[in-house]
Amino acid sequence: MTPKEALKLLKERDKGTSFSRLTRGLPEEYDHAIDTAIEALERLTPKPPRQKAVSSLSSKDKTIYKGFCPHCKDDNYVYSFHQCCNVCGQAIDWSEHNAEG
Ligand SMILES: [Zn+2]
Repeated sequence: MTPKEALKLLKERDKGTSFSRLTRGLPEEYDHAIDTAIEALERLTPKPPRQKAVSSLSSKDKTIYKGFCPHCKDDNYVYSFHQCCNVCGQAIDWSEHNAEG
């Protein structure tokens, strides 16, 4: 099971599924544990940066993009040579940018 698949299942907790029936009535700390797991799995699921810009950095023939972390919002830059934000650990999906070559 991939993190994305696990995330989908955990998010069904509030949708009247068998999982929501199983988790109903559990002590509150289990709800918090599931919330924490959802948040962690969302960080592992690559998301595109909030905005793209060509960085002033250059690496031979390769364009390096700079954008804002989708989780930290406008507080933190991410660069296309990084797979995740170095502040919050959010995985970044650069495929759209790199495909433009
Ligand atoms: Zn971040």
